Amino acid sequence: MTTFEQSFILKKSLAACYTTKGVIKCKAAVAWEPNKPLVIEDIEVAPPQANEVRIKIVATGVCHTDLYHLFEGMHKDGFPAVLGHEGAGIVESVGPGVSEFQPGDRVIPLFISQCRECRFCKSPKTNQCEKGWAADHYDVMALADSRFTCKGKKVLQFMGTSTFSEYTVMNQIAVAKIDPAAPLDKVCLLGCGVCTGFGAAVNTAKVEPGSTCAVFGLGAVGLAAVMGCKFAGAKRIFAVDTNPEKAEKARVFGATDFVNPKDYNKPISKVLAEMTNGGVDYSLECVGNVDVMRSALESCMKGWGVSVVVGWTDKHDFSARPIQLIAGRTWKGTLFGGFKSKDGVPQMVKAYMERKVKLDEFITHNMTLTQVNEAIELMKRGGCIRTVLSVSRQ
Ligand code: NAD
Ligand code: ZN
Repeated sequence: MTTFEQSFILKKSLAACYTTKGVIKCKAAVAWEPNKPLVIEDIEVAPPQANEVRIKIVATGVCHTDLYHLFEGMHKDGFPAVLGHEGAGIVESVGPGVSEFQPGDRVIPLFISQCRECRFCKSPKTNQCEKGWAADHYDVMALADSRFTCKGKKVLQFMGTSTFSEYTVMNQIAVAKIDPAAPLDKVCLLGCGVCTGFGAAVNTAKVEPGSTCAVFGLGAVGLAAVMGCKFAGAKRIFAVDTNPEKAEKARVFGATDFVNPKDYNKPISKVLAEMTNGGVDYSLECVGNVDVMRSALESCMKGWGVSVVVGWTDKHDFSARPIQLIAGRTWKGTLFGGFKSKDGVPQMVKAYMERKVKLDEFITHNMTLTQVNEAIELMKRGGCIRTVLSVSRQ
């Protein structure tokens, strides 16, 4: 090998270690204040710092948690922010110290990190890494430290991710490398909703073969929970929603029965108890409503019933009669379906590529980033399961 070739190879390998190129100006949907439409703005995205990667977002889903921050949580310190946390994209450049990623890698940004070093990552009992956005945040959502500015102001990164932007910067502990053949406009759903619901059933509830389940709320999270119950071998799956239009979709994912609480003049827990000779083995709340959380618990069988809180709210307390738990029911919660994120997401991508889990069936609408407000309004009206926004060209 000539000296020239050697120096060329050395330069190339250095470039692979550290490929930062300067500030990028790009389009993003900025939430300037609560309860207002997002505004498509030109923002500046700083180069990745140590251990960070800059990602070109190709596609993103719109999840109810984005709506929660905008319309329900409305924490005053959580704005301006770029929302979006269910995306997929391509690594554009990497900062110093990044060895795991290279420009061109296909990735899914993770709102829950996996550093592999903290006491939580080392425990098989939890997926709650100590080092991600959740360790240093305003309210429950936005990371205090951000790589975005717009019109001279710092703009926060919602859940540390901000996928409603053509580019974002993430720490490498919160990025999953995925099969390069996976379609980004489908697997983006594994960045939140589908992993959350599926994992809630499989990892958190630990649904058993032959069991009876009830899933409350049939958005993407609830339908993924139905899919998880079926995957785990449940023999009867009650899909519960106040919107009758959700019934047909629920069957696609494996529900055996659809129950609309509005069709009965008694509590839904009584209805389910009558249909199941005492209650279901597992119930999953995928709405984000404390009254529904209580109903889901009360729908479980005494002795062994397990109820999992999946829906997101941090505004209200919930309550239940202690006898519910004394009688042997278990009440649990789940974040990201209990998946250790860097390990779990590529496995779910593989499961999709092998046709073991569905994704395409969740997508009812495709739009572009500029139509984000339309997508938000559609979800508010219950008019979609998932809208996938195309953000940049591949
Ligand atoms: P979505 O808005 O698409 O779906 C919610 C569904 O609940 C709708 O079908 C609606 O008709 C139904 N519903 C409303 N009130 C109901 C009631 N009283 N009884 C039965 N059904 C009712 O939302 P999504 O994107 O599927 O998210 C669902 C929830 O999961 C949200 O609260 C979201 O914030 C939360 N979430 C939690 C996590 C987590 O890690 N725990 C992650 C993602 C999303
Ligand atoms: Zn989400």
